[in-house]
Amino acid sequence: MIHETTASMAEWRVKLRSRLGDDIVLSESADMLPYCRDWHGDVTSNAVAVLRPRSTEQVAQAVKLCSELGLSIVPQGGNTGLVLGAVPDADANQVVLSLERMNRIRQIDADDFSAVVEAGCILSELKDAIAEKGMFFPLALGAQGTCRIGGNVSTNAGGINVLRYGMTRELIFGLEVVLPDGSIFDGLSTLRKDNRGIDLKQLFIGAEGTLGIITAVSVKLTPYPDQVATALLGLASLDDAIKLFRRARRDCCDLMSAFEFMPPLAFTLAKEAMPDLPIPIAADYPAYVLMEISGSGLVDIDDLMGRFLEAVMEEGIVLDGTLAASQTQARNLWLIREGMNEGQAKRGMHLRTDVSVKLSQLADFVAEAERAVAEAVPGSTCVSYGHVGDGNVHLNVLPAAEAEPEQRLEQIYVAKGAINAVLDRYQGSISAEHGIGRLKRGDFEARLSPVRRHLLTALKQAIDPGMVMNPGCQLNFPANS
Ligand SMILES: Cc1cc2nc3c(=O)[nH]c(=O)nc-3n(C[C@H](O)[C@H](O)[C@H](O)COP(=O)(O)OP(=O)(O)OC[C@H]3O[C@@H](n4cnc5c(N)ncnc54)[C@H](O)[C@@H]3O)c2cc1C
Repeated sequence: MIHETTASMAEWRVKLRSRLGDDIVLSESADMLPYCRDWHGDVTSNAVAVLRPRSTEQVAQAVKLCSELGLSIVPQGGNTGLVLGAVPDADANQVVLSLERMNRIRQIDADDFSAVVEAGCILSELKDAIAEKGMFFPLALGAQGTCRIGGNVSTNAGGINVLRYGMTRELIFGLEVVLPDGSIFDGLSTLRKDNRGIDLKQLFIGAEGTLGIITAVSVKLTPYPDQVATALLGLASLDDAIKLFRRARRDCCDLMSAFEFMPPLAFTLAKEAMPDLPIPIAADYPAYVLMEISGSGLVDIDDLMGRFLEAVMEEGIVLDGTLAASQTQARNLWLIREGMNEGQAKRGMHLRTDVSVKLSQLADFVAEAERAVAEAVPGSTCVSYGHVGDGNVHLNVLPAAEAEPEQRLEQIYVAKGAINAVLDRYQGSISAEHGIGRLKRGDFEARLSPVRRHLLTALKQAIDPGMVMNPGCQLNFPANS
């Protein structure tokens, strides 16, 4: 007997192929697998098809057809998102629309400090092409070799340079977006100042694909920082790290471009992922900071870093430190920060959080939340680290090594509850930069005020009345009445 959904699945696939062309549509399970599995491999689902258009017009055609067939669309960039926003729900009428073939750089204009690029361009490729012209696109994150600029805009990505250059939102001039009815919003201006009414592009930045499909982006560039000084520093506490951050902002003329906090466990975790990685500092300080100052032109960055470190070491804020003497040494210091992520993944399923509080409350929050986790999940290990200068910390929890998968899930759930209870007292955010996706929807909804919920729902109903775009992501929006 042929099951009804199997019949409609086959029917949908035939219609998608015949109207869009075989070249655009993937529907074999093996071909679709990489698009239906999240970055960590925690979730694998299924889709009616994966669509891979090559142009804005093909995206518009695909959107119109999906709407006609009653299919909803999950846009996908590099699929490096950490909150299940780009992976479809299992057992639903969803297609994945991948932007991976729309990866052309339309223009780089060094005189205007701007570039226009298609949404599927990989972030590191965009940065490299811009660097070749002597310019710099400051967005920088561990996933930059895989994530795509449309995904970065849709998640309003943060990363290591936020404290100097801002989140993705601050790096964008304009957007081109295919709306849920297939019409094209052309907002690709590169004007630096344009105050003509409501800034519509802001609706799509951080919307995680719930309002339309971003097909191209115009971005702001800055001069290439050809001088970079990188230091790994040992400190007595997170409190001292925050003191150091404030001093660096004042003393280094706002030229600090990165400030990453790590616990001593970072070295163990990085070594578990990369056994040959050199660790050029004693591993027994209670806290570490990886700090970068950068600039271009007439500023002497090495001199600035040297004088700054001398002062903070004399005052006892920094206990020990190592300054990278070459690009390779700087790269190795950054590999410790990246390796600690891989090391956590190697320890199995664990809780990953991405929370923020006011900078002045960060040290107290982390101490209180770690105490709450120790009480709620004895035997677990907290790993607190991240871009703390923004008040953002990844307070992750590794269940005990011997915990079985079921126990791990339970411990993750309990630890998350313990952290969020403390976070709510501090009036913090459950998502400082990764977004909501499907993973954090429940926690997001539970904290929405009635007015905010009303505004979000009204916006969704106005732009996507047919609920075509990324259902289940961010909110379970009620259908239009
Ligand atoms: C190792 C690692 C390090 C990371 N570090 C950071 C970090 O420092 N800071 C940070 O903020 N994030 C970080 N992330 C998370 C992730 O890389 C970012 O969220 C990134 O911006 C996602 O881009 P992507 O192209 O992979 O998007 P995807 O994962 O493909 O999609 C993310 C969301 O955007 C939507 N979307 C994608 N493309 C489009 C489009 N063209 N139009 C409309 N909607 C779209 C999707 O539907 C989904 O909801 C990290 C991830 C990894 C794996």
